[in-house]
Amino acid sequence: MKLDLSGKTALVTGGARGIGASISRTLAAAGAKVVINFNKSGEKAGKLRDEIRSEGFESEIFQADVSEPDQVDRLFQFIRSYSGRLDILVNNAGMIRDALLLAMSAAEWDKVHDVNLRGAFLTTRIAAELMVLKHYGKIINIASVSGIRGGRGQTNYASAKGGLISFTRACAVELAPKGIQVNAVLPGFIETEMSTRARRRAGEALLDRIPAQRFGNPQEVANLVLFLASEFSDYITGQAIPVDGGLSVS
Ligand code: NAP
Repeated sequence: MKLDLSGKTALVTGGARGIGASISRTLAAAGAKVVINFNKSGEKAGKLRDEIRSEGFESEIFQADVSEPDQVDRLFQFIRSYSGRLDILVNNAGMIRDALLLAMSAAEWDKVHDVNLRGAFLTTRIAAELMVLKHYGKIINIASVSGIRGGRGQTNYASAKGGLISFTRACAVELAPKGIQVNAVLPGFIETEMSTRARRRAGEALLDRIPAQRFGNPQEVANLVLFLASEFSDYITGQAIPVDGGLSVS
């Protein structure tokens, strides 16, 4: 058995920067055709596609806000015409709008739920339709350790990511008989733009809470995604696996 994704098509939402960019690169290097979805980072998406192609792999980019049903429909129309199939879906698009509960607006609550949770529902619903046709599929949801532990100022984000973990389990039960595995990856503190403020604000105190005594890097998340996207994980479904240097068990 080889960790080889040749002949497979993957979609990575929010795949142009941060953790998503590492996932896009890693799946492409394993042989998958990778559709990089972006919302605002068009320039970064174009550069990443060119980089992947220059290494001899296949990639395309497509702009869509994953929280908007019409835009998600257009994204999948594009995938149908580009490849006619989808084998791997990585729901990576995410955002934070931290605020203490008493100061949180309904708009901040909704926006975070719309991108992190509703977005995953909208893409998964259509992806599953395509995957059922081939009786094959891997859906990987990038949740967060915040979805299983409380986080100050993160009632919106923690509940959205907790919801994404429950969504993962319910999808896994429905889709396992159709040959589709659905798993969640739970990053801890990973060095990207999203965690910059938290890492700066909490500094050394934050590192003390992480048994590995360092922050993670995006590639370490992509490594688990690659495993879950491959046939090595065929009997694993409905799981929520942290990549967090031990944070969630400390
Ligand atoms: P990031 O650097 O802030 O990147 C966020 C990504 O999400 C960007 O590619 C962005 O695309 C995309 N995105 C945001 N809103 C979108 C929308 N409406 N439609 C489509 N794409 C959208 O964050 P990151 O650290 O790489 O985070 C990636 C995932 O890991 C997220 O789900 C995040 O919640 C999760 N996570 C991160 C950490 C961490 O420590 N970094 C920890 C736990 C979980 P554009 O730039 O194109 O708009």
